[in-house]
Amino acid sequence: MDKTESLQIAKQELSDYLRLNSLRNTQERVALLEAIYSADAPFAAEELSMQMTGFKHLRISRATVYNNLGLFEDAGLVRKVFLNDKVLYERTDRNRHVIRLICGGCGKSVEINDERVRRQIEDMRTRRFTMTGWSLNVYGLCSKCSAALKRKMNKLNKIQKKKNEDRKD
Ligand SMILES: [Zn+2]
Repeated sequence: MDKTESLQIAKQELSDYLRLNSLRNTQERVALLEAIYSADAPFAAEELSMQMTGFKHLRISRATVYNNLGLFEDAGLVRKVFLNDKVLYERTDRNRHVIRLICGGCGKSVEINDERVRRQIEDMRTRRFTMTGWSLNVYGLCSKCSAALKRKMNKLNKIQKKKNEDRKD
């Protein structure tokens, strides 16, 4: 499914949800949904709020962004993801299954696909539970941070070595 198709479905789902709950479908809501469904990675509410400043000449306040994120979550259009102690949001159409590699040094995360892992999880038997999606967080260090750590360790080792040598003299 491509993005345009996903957005069309999401718009329909939103309007159904709003009608069901006797809420109005506003231009602001649609604009927010469009922004969310064009994002390629999880985002913070604050980032979305900043992105919406001046979007399509609409005045979308911070409160509107926050309230509607809650509403979209209820409607099943976005979900919360917890990454490095931060609450982020992502659209639910993308990656109903995702493996994330999270760096404990800089906090960056990348998403990878591993068919074997995917199959293992999806074949998992879950008693009295219907799986609708999953995400797997793998923690570690990215290459940059692991190189930085190595340099730091080398430096510390040198200092230690020098100290030992000085002691011998
Ligand atoms: Zn890193």
